[in-house]
Amino acid sequence: MSKTSIKSLTLEELSKYFAAQGERPFRAKQLVDWLYQKRIGSFDEMTDLLATTRTRLASEFGFVRPEVVRVLGAKDTTRKFLFRLSDGSLIESVLIPASPALYGETSDRRTACVSTQVGCAYGCKFCASGLEGFARNLEAGEIVDQLLAIEKESGEKIDNIVFMGMGEPLANVTNLLRAIRIINAPWGLGIGARHITISTSGLAPQIRKLATEPTQFRLAISLHGATDEVRSQIMPINRKYNLAVLLQACDFYVAQKKRLMFEYILIAGVNDSDEQAQRLARHAQRLSAKINLIPYNTVEGLPWSRPSRNRQETFLRILRHHGAVATLRREKGHDIDAACGQLRLQTTRAENAPATAG
Ligand code: SAH
Ligand code: SF4
Repeated sequence: MSKTSIKSLTLEELSKYFAAQGERPFRAKQLVDWLYQKRIGSFDEMTDLLATTRTRLASEFGFVRPEVVRVLGAKDTTRKFLFRLSDGSLIESVLIPASPALYGETSDRRTACVSTQVGCAYGCKFCASGLEGFARNLEAGEIVDQLLAIEKESGEKIDNIVFMGMGEPLANVTNLLRAIRIINAPWGLGIGARHITISTSGLAPQIRKLATEPTQFRLAISLHGATDEVRSQIMPINRKYNLAVLLQACDFYVAQKKRLMFEYILIAGVNDSDEQAQRLARHAQRLSAKINLIPYNTVEGLPWSRPSRNRQETFLRILRHHGAVATLRREKGHDIDAACGQLRLQTTRAENAPATAG
């Protein structure tokens, strides 16, 4: 069992730790300043802590930083980072530059899209993240580390976070909420909860649990099908929590005075019919949810594709005609495989492929 990352602990926990060691609790504040303000790379650099304290910290906690394996894209465009974790696992994160109307509202913010698991167990038919199965949950510190690494590599300040990278965030909800506390805290990364979006494929019980969380993060539901017939065809989770069960959990969430939004990827000939649009609009109205339409990004080896531009616009028009509030993402990033899981898939496949002679 490897040591817990120091970046998985909250200030309160660190204060208790120092108190239990007979040290003054304000040492914890000094420690988080080194981690999240000065952003040093090892316990040794924490020069206002005693050498004995630093040695003890190093023996009890991990202090690792993800290794940057590949970066795709350039400044001012979507940049994609492939990281190797201390156990060799590969995960990816994306930095999306200032872009108006990217997540359905006018914005000049830089958004980081981060992973919560290595692989994904949910096996949606269109998604690259699930293709090689599930390996493990990320530790809270490994979630936080993606943001620190992106800011270090890019020299840019992240002001928006979406948990739309690899993995199902609500299947790792304890570490996710711990990471969000650190990201949100003034002593941590100081990113406002309203600038943090959790995306889920629809784990109904966890959605009910989130409804009573005090932190005001945003929640996005990956719907991708407006009837059980269509949704079950592409998202196996729909057989466990069908639309009725999922939408009831959403009702409960909204009844707690919380808002949610729908994500709906448009896949040609699968979920882009007029009937799906009409039903989708109805579900959205029931929950006062905004709809974010996302044209499908092709994944190598999978048969799916995005509908024509014309069809996308028609789908949007039907939603609006039926009273729904919806936006269509006309995104960049298609050219560098910006959909989650794709860069990692290419790299693991290349690494696992037998070496060619030469
Ligand atoms: N597991 C969570 C979060 C990660 S996926 C979820 O499913 O919501 C983040 C979003 O990217 C989801 O809406 C997912 O359906 C979508 N997505 C996955 N593969 C995609 C692709 N090839 N093109 C466009 N969106 C994709
Ligand atoms: Fe997992 Fe989300 Fe991809 Fe489905 S869409 S396989 S839940 S990461």
